[in-house]
Amino acid sequence: MNIILLGPPGAGKGTQARILEDTRGMVQLSTGDMLREAKDSGTEMGQVVAGVMARGELVTDEIVIGLIREKLETVEAAGFIFDGFPRTLKQADALSDLLSQMGQTLDQVVELRVDDDTLVQRITARSTCASCGEVYNDITKPIPEDGKCSKCGGTEFKRRADDNEDSLKKRLMEYYKQTSPLIGYYYAKGLHASVDGLGEIDEIKGAIAKTLDD
Ligand code: AMP
Repeated sequence: MNIILLGPPGAGKGTQARILEDTRGMVQLSTGDMLREAKDSGTEMGQVVAGVMARGELVTDEIVIGLIREKLETVEAAGFIFDGFPRTLKQADALSDLLSQMGQTLDQVVELRVDDDTLVQRITARSTCASCGEVYNDITKPIPEDGKCSKCGGTEFKRRADDNEDSLKKRLMEYYKQTSPLIGYYYAKGLHASVDGLGEIDEIKGAIAKTLDD
């Protein structure tokens, strides 16, 4: 089963993708993670995208489609969870071509709906474990008092450089202008399902499971 988690920054796509990996043996393909990896390892492409990401703009379709193509060609999985990809109609068409070349299909697109005030609150309070990527929130899910990640025991936590108010505004605008048309695109393909992304992580997990298993 191949699915897309669709939603604005802070909707909970990464958190729910990690849960699906743990519970269903699926593999998360996050273009944001791939781009941050390229940036941190200082590759030529990483240097090109660093400024674009810091400003909250979108990286070119060619770069992200290339990253996804490479993963699809090399990673074996019971199914893929596309997280943060596709973000444009061109990327959506490319994904459909890539999957059909592999004899695979896209089975479901789950949109996580969260209001803008909550997104801003979540993003500005967000940090992640530097070792395993577990996501924390200063208010709703603080780092444990002993300073150790509840998932892996790691003791280093980081905040994303683009999790600040200015680039968040730009990222939200990019979402509404370039990515939200994908809701209609996938609705027309009969693949769209919508889940309330507010509330407890477990409740949202349950709602996603229901749409995937129905
Ligand atoms: P994310 O981790 O998904 O929030 O992505 C962080 C940043 O990486 C975005 O603000 C974009 O600059 C870039 N990015 C990630 N995925 C894509 C994509 N599919 N298309 C274009 N840019 C992307």
